[in-house]
Amino acid sequence: MTPSRFCPKCGESGKPLFKGFCVNCYMADHPNVLEIPDRIELEYCPECLRNFAHGEWASGHEDTIHELIRSKVRTELENHSVSIEPGREQGKVRFYTIVVTGTLGGEEVMLERKIGLRMIKKQCPVCARKDSTYYEALVQLRPKGKEIDLDRLKSAMNFLRNANRALIKNHREAEVFRYERVKNGVNIYFGSMKAAKKALQAFVKTYACETNESYTLVGLDKSTGKRRYKVTISVRI
Ligand SMILES: [Zn+2]
Ligand SMILES: [Zn+2]
Repeated sequence: MTPSRFCPKCGESGKPLFKGFCVNCYMADHPNVLEIPDRIELEYCPECLRNFAHGEWASGHEDTIHELIRSKVRTELENHSVSIEPGREQGKVRFYTIVVTGTLGGEEVMLERKIGLRMIKKQCPVCARKDSTYYEALVQLRPKGKEIDLDRLKSAMNFLRNANRALIKNHREAEVFRYERVKNGVNIYFGSMKAAKKALQAFVKTYACETNESYTLVGLDKSTGKRRYKVTISVRI
């Protein structure tokens, strides 16, 4: 910053210079002093409404969007801060006004851009699994005697569905993937074997019953090389 020298482009003197030019002239010749793509794409799952950003599917819609936009901002402004204002929506595109403030050669600068965020529907892997026949654990709820006590069966189903609430927040595979009413009871499919067993640990105490497990080999885990199994757990209640 040399305030005594003049700008070779506009001839003004007494202004702070940045890379030899006054800030106005520098910015006029360098539109890339702030670069944000005017279209950004974001994949979202229409079923669970999670977004795919930074390599993972996460909820917290608006937060993820702001983070994503921030990660696309490239600027020469020093000590800059970015503010993001959501605007109108048009079809699958949402518009945002991005204001970046910072300094250039010691002078305060505020720049504004409008960008469009295009939301792209894509089913996330967990929802895809839920829609398929995939499961790791099948829990077969069956009555102890010949008669089916429907109320007991229903309460047992609810118990299993809610048992893993705390786990599900960070580990969606812990959810019950699907139910199936069969002639003599209910089949409950879990996305995770660990989660199913955890739910059943609490279950056997509450319902004073026993479980019977049988495993089926389903293949090898590509990343670990370990054998992968499915488990069928039958429970008489
Ligand atoms: Zn100038
Ligand atoms: Zn999903």
